[in-house]
Amino acid sequence: MERTFSILKPDATRRNLTGAINAMIEAAELRIVAQKRVLMTRAQAETFYAVHKERPFFPELVATMTAGPVVVQVLEGNDAVRKYRDVLGATDPAKAAANTVRKKYALSISENSAHGSDSPETAAIEIQQFFSGNEIVG
Ligand code: GDP
Repeated sequence: MERTFSILKPDATRRNLTGAINAMIEAAELRIVAQKRVLMTRAQAETFYAVHKERPFFPELVATMTAGPVVVQVLEGNDAVRKYRDVLGATDPAKAAANTVRKKYALSISENSAHGSDSPETAAIEIQQFFSGNEIVG
């Protein structure tokens, strides 16, 4: 069993797509063991994406992530990190495979509907940023 961290981004909440994406998550045999809808602050977004702070798209990324509500989630399952990234598809929707979240729903590389951790180590750090232990019920 492994856990990964997910964010359904503002472009997804704005278009009422959280249920459709959750259905894809559950169809992939990932279990949503924690979930809440929050507005990310600018500070939270900057911390969350600190690894990208020197990149030219960083200001746009922070603006996009704070433009509206997000749904933060903890997903659990076998090989959850890799499996969820497969459900999401490539970062750029133009390169995403058929039947992935980003192919179906992303508007652009910036408004690409959802985030998934890139390793179990990153997942643990990201989960801690948004959830306390008693909010995660497996
Ligand atoms: P992810 O792990 O697939 O989300 O991709 P990354 O960690 O590389 O990038 C984080 C987020 O930054 C992505 O999901 C995109 O929303 C955004 N992003 C990445 N690359 C670009 C880019 O070249 N241009 C813009 N505008 N946004 C980008």
